Amino acid sequence: MASQLPAHKAPRSLDDILEAVNHREETLDVVFVANRNVSCVGSGPALGHPKVFYTIGEPGYVECMYCDRVFVLDPERAGQS
Ligand SMILES: [Zn+2]
Repeated sequence: MASQLPAHKAPRSLDDILEAVNHREETLDVVFVANRNVSCVGSGPALGHPKVFYTIGEPGYVECMYCDRVFVLDPERAGQS
């Protein structure tokens, strides 16, 4: 099953994700949060998706299954855009 996942959904480290974003290699929408429990509804009515809930696990982040939003557990940066 794992081989059917798009490459960008393959498991990887938080550092890899931040590296890719910082170098503009991917247009991931990174959201810093202070709580492990997050929810996502996509990016507005046009690009939205059913509300889904995630719990940020050990890697320190979770990628939304529907959109390219990445929630990163980082209390110090939470709330910043
Ligand atoms: Zn989403």
